[in-house]
Amino acid sequence: MGAILKLEYAEGVSVDIRQKIDLLGEAAQHDICRGCGSHSSRVQDDLGRWVYPAIRPDGQRISMLKVLQTNVCEKDCAYCANRSGRDIRRTAFTPDELARTFDQMAHRRLVEGLFLSSGICGHADQAMQRMLATVELIRRQYGFRGYIHLKILPGADDASIEAAVRLADRVSVNLEAPNPQRIQHLSHTKDFFRELLAPLRKADEVRQALKPGVSMTTQFVVGAAGESDKEILSSATSLYSNLRLARVYYSAFQPVRDTPLENHDPTPTWREHRLYQADFLLRQYGFTFDEIVFGEEGRLPREADPKLAWALSNPECFPIEINTASQRDLLRIPGIGPRSAQKIIARRKQGRLRELAHIDLPPASVRQAAPFVLLGGKRPSYQLPLFDPTAAC
Ligand code: SF4
Repeated sequence: MGAILKLEYAEGVSVDIRQKIDLLGEAAQHDICRGCGSHSSRVQDDLGRWVYPAIRPDGQRISMLKVLQTNVCEKDCAYCANRSGRDIRRTAFTPDELARTFDQMAHRRLVEGLFLSSGICGHADQAMQRMLATVELIRRQYGFRGYIHLKILPGADDASIEAAVRLADRVSVNLEAPNPQRIQHLSHTKDFFRELLAPLRKADEVRQALKPGVSMTTQFVVGAAGESDKEILSSATSLYSNLRLARVYYSAFQPVRDTPLENHDPTPTWREHRLYQADFLLRQYGFTFDEIVFGEEGRLPREADPKLAWALSNPECFPIEINTASQRDLLRIPGIGPRSAQKIIARRKQGRLRELAHIDLPPASVRQAAPFVLLGGKRPSYQLPLFDPTAAC
């Protein structure tokens, strides 16, 4: 445990709780959690600056405190603002401080959920023990039954993983890179299989045996390790099918001052956006990894979203007759998502469809879908001015 941390624990609350919330709430922002809203939508309150509107896995909207137990870390992840050796102010919550603070915030109705992560100070198990002690207090002493997302730290032992699954609604391990070769670009101290993948596997095993309702996620930092989109989505596909992850999150790399990657170009947000679109195709549209269209060097095309790119590469699959297509085929049409497909199926029951405009679809969906469909054997009257299948790939 680092000297600063010892001082904090030895002297009790030597940094005011509000300052700790500020330091450790801000430090937690580097761990994305797409259930959380943006900075602009955060609750503005003296204790609630790091409370975010969030969506639970069951779709319910809640406000969630996102915080680290400590920003003291002995790891050297090249992209991370909390990496060891960086000259930043370090502090830590004792389990009691954080549990009490969370309880006070819950009583003031500032928070309905907790996202808790931590830097790794000493062995991962020691850091996990402090997080687990916090959540134990929140659950058992303060009786909180709401949503808790608990990060499992790299290298956590089996007992900590089991305890995390028992206490939390969601657990996650951030792989950060898609494979062992790429993680070497990001950290000299993280072992991909032993410290990252093995805990994720163990968490899956434990939840299957004890608490199947617990969901699991991971996160990749995009663009910091020279990896391709193909590598990232290949790993994501395997995680979805082998470990039944609820979500994979993609975080566009942004350089942080005074880190080894401070002069590395930031990753454009359109790349992150394309990865999310491809991820949706894999999770919700019935696409397989082999159907995702990659351009040069395994990159998703910038000019076309992944479904349009697939449609343009598979012209033999079109046009699709809207009046008879299966749900699977409807979901192959650019611009048609699960909700639009359901609307089409429901509307078909009222009679034969002759115009896309009769279906109550968003105008953008109509524009995208028109070149790829037939209605009663005819092209829709609305068409893009010129459809050039080679233009978008
Ligand atoms: S383990 Fe790596 S990513 Fe996590 S806080 Fe430490 S340096 Fe940052």
